[in-house]
Amino acid sequence: MDCLFCKIVAGEIPSKKVYEDDRVLAFYDIAPAAPVHVLFIPKVHLAGVRDVTADNAAVVAHIFSVIPQVAAQLGVTDYRIVSNNGPEAGQTVQHLHFHLLAGRPLGGMA
Ligand code: 5GP
Ligand code: ZN
Repeated sequence: MDCLFCKIVAGEIPSKKVYEDDRVLAFYDIAPAAPVHVLFIPKVHLAGVRDVTADNAAVVAHIFSVIPQVAAQLGVTDYRIVSNNGPEAGQTVQHLHFHLLAGRPLGGMA
C-alpha cells in the first residue's frame, strides 16, 4: 500500500522515534507546529478516525495509554492532542495519527 506512515512503520522511510511497541509508533513530526510535536500512529493501517470501529478501537485506547507516558518522558505536562479527519479538517496523511503539541501556549481550540 502506498502509505507514507506504513512506510515509516516498515522502516522504509526514516523517522525520529520517541516510542515504539508492537502496536504503536511515536515519532517527531517533520514540520513541527510547536516546540514539541510528536505523532502517534497505530502500526495497523487505518485511514483515519473514520476507520475506527468497536472491533479495532483497542489500538486507539492503547495509543491513549502511551501518550501520557511519552509526554512525561518528554517532560511536558500541558499538551494538546489533535487528529484531523478528512481534507476539510486538514488531514494530509491518510493513516490514523494523533498529534501531540506542546511547549508553547497553544491558544484557543483549533
Ligand atoms: P495531518 O496534516 O494529516 O494531520 O498530519 C500529517 C503530519 O505528518 C504533518 O504534520 C506533517 O508535517 C507530517 N509529516 C508528513 N510527512 C512526514 C514525514 O515523512 N515524516 C514525518 N516525521 N512527519 C511527516
Ligand atoms: Zn498506512
